[in-house]
Amino acid sequence: MIGDLEKIKEEVLKCQKCPLYQERIKNGFYPVVGEGDHQAEIVFIGEAPGLSEAKTGRPFCGAAGKILDELLESVDIKREEVYIANILKDRPPENRNPQKEEIAACASYLDRQLEAISPKIICTLGNFSTAYILEKYGLKEKIQGISKIHGQVFEVKGLSPELKIVPLYHPAVATYNINMKEILKNDFKVLKELGQ
Ligand code: URA
Repeated sequence: MIGDLEKIKEEVLKCQKCPLYQERIKNGFYPVVGEGDHQAEIVFIGEAPGLSEAKTGRPFCGAAGKILDELLESVDIKREEVYIANILKDRPPENRNPQKEEIAACASYLDRQLEAISPKIICTLGNFSTAYILEKYGLKEKIQGISKIHGQVFEVKGLSPELKIVPLYHPAVATYNINMKEILKNDFKVLKELGQ
């Protein structure tokens, strides 16, 4: 039987719900559905594919991905053990910010991915995924800029299995400010403390 994540992938490949589909076709890009262990305990959620990702269909395979790989390695977590996805599955032109309507059109795929994987920890990378996930899990009042809440652990009450949300800076910040890498590395240590 075809698994939930495979079904979601098939649907995303055909999805024409927002204008980013036209961008995909015009540029010969791929949608970036997600990648990793289907039973992962940790799911990382980025914003949207960049150019390298749209050219390959793989999340975080460009410059930001190299940083993410380094951060995972710094806490002995293998990329294959986690699942990595984005809010938007298609690349916004020139990597502009996701628009509200695009998030509204696309986020149900992420919702279903999370339901299928049922992780213990969701690490949100950057402001967009942090705001989306905190609101989704009833923690809207905790939403602040990522510079205020990075590295904190938010527990979602009343869920079984338990779920924790860890907002992190988007790894791309370390591609233009090298000092941010140490801050990110320090925040990643929380994943070890959470017993992963
Ligand atoms: N930035 C993101 O948010 N996601 C990717 O997959 C790559 C870069």
